[in-house]
Amino acid sequence: MDALDLIEFGNVGIDDALGSLAKRRTLLHPAAERYAEHAIRSYTENRPSESVPTRPVREWWVAQRDSPNALWEMWAWGRRYESVDTGVRELRLLRTGSVAGLEDDRDLAATAIAAYVVAFGAAGRWPRRWSDPFELGDREDIRRARVLEVGLLDGSVRVLFDGTSQQAQRLYTRYGRDVVAELARRDDPRPGRACGECKVMHRCDALVRIPGLLGVDARSVPRRTTSISDLRYYRTCPAQSYMYGLRLPRISEYGNRAVLGHGVHQWLEDIHGSDDPACTPERLPSGQDPWTASKWEITGADAAIGEAMLSNHLDVCPFSTDAPITEIRTEPTLSFFDPAAQAVMIAKPDLLYCENGGWVWRETKTTQRTLRGVGDDLLDEYPQLALALVALSAGALGGRCDTARVELEILHPDSADLHLMDPTDPARVAHARRVLRELAAPWRLDEAFEPRPAESCRWCPVSKWCPSSPDLQPE
Ligand SMILES: [Zn+2]
Repeated sequence: MDALDLIEFGNVGIDDALGSLAKRRTLLHPAAERYAEHAIRSYTENRPSESVPTRPVREWWVAQRDSPNALWEMWAWGRRYESVDTGVRELRLLRTGSVAGLEDDRDLAATAIAAYVVAFGAAGRWPRRWSDPFELGDREDIRRARVLEVGLLDGSVRVLFDGTSQQAQRLYTRYGRDVVAELARRDDPRPGRACGECKVMHRCDALVRIPGLLGVDARSVPRRTTSISDLRYYRTCPAQSYMYGLRLPRISEYGNRAVLGHGVHQWLEDIHGSDDPACTPERLPSGQDPWTASKWEITGADAAIGEAMLSNHLDVCPFSTDAPITEIRTEPTLSFFDPAAQAVMIAKPDLLYCENGGWVWRETKTTQRTLRGVGDDLLDEYPQLALALVALSAGALGGRCDTARVELEILHPDSADLHLMDPTDPARVAHARRVLRELAAPWRLDEAFEPRPAESCRWCPVSKWCPSSPDLQPE
């Protein structure tokens, strides 16, 4: 955004703008710099051909509303343009990847709110202090409001809204107003990835604390957020995990095997999260035809393989028994804070259910490999089980510890295996702690996140941004 400001408001060329940023050391990681340069060129060299307004606008468009207890302000983050004479405004929302060929995946409430602030927002500079309100000028009459989305990967553009102020008002009334009212009303904390940046986290009771969770002492360094997946990526390549953390676009990420796994997981989540969570033969997809689960489409030979895995799940479905299960949570986002490591750990169990007063944390894996004998090294192979075991042993989810357990369900086309782990078993928990420590210690102490070139670079989804693989760069 700083570089685009220089280009649009300072009459600076692209190369000079990038050079200026480099001097200011705004971006530290080489991959981030590489992506930023690509994104800036994509944006400036691919102007939307159908764009109407021509003048970039530095001021924000803000809708303010005063209430007895607070001043509410609503604005949208993006680039702003206008045609003063004709009363046309255009807001361009930026997306790190591509918007080419995307279907209507966007939240209608977000589009409605963006359209509303374009149509009715007054212009004002960003306040000097975060706590200050915007100082706004008079509201202008806007004849036409446009909201575009621009993909920074390729400069692709799609129009999210293009209409009159009255149409923007109707869209907001229909899709945005209730969402805004709900946001303004709710004050219950919802722990998640944002906790890592939260300035009042230290006095928040909603974030569960597990001192020593990662077995690393790093009290004097800035707080970080991670997950078991992040740490596994880090173990493969620190630069790759850093780029994932920045949400840089990934290219050719999913092979067929990964799509099949996602499809099976989604199918289970949909059933287990429904009012009738028991999986039954009648509910299975047909192995003869392609089947879908949410956005995952399973076709060809995978349709039958996936159906076979789901069929085997029937033998180990926790909701097809008479067990006293009182609560079910599918794919919940959990966050734990380890004050010793100054780290927020995010976890997303495949399934949590409360049985006999204790929480059961189940992870499900799909595989077509020949299954070998398994034992204690499950914790090494699947470190999320180690996290689950330590979290349950610390009573992080509440409930009874003596009836809590960790489950690993391995779905194979020929069988389903269920492995149970006891969080009151001291040896198992010690092993789990060792797994977490070995995974987290190098990450917690790393400041550079340098690439670790290897054969796997050939199929790394973010190699396009990686400075260590120039031979992989596209033309
Ligand atoms: Zn089931």
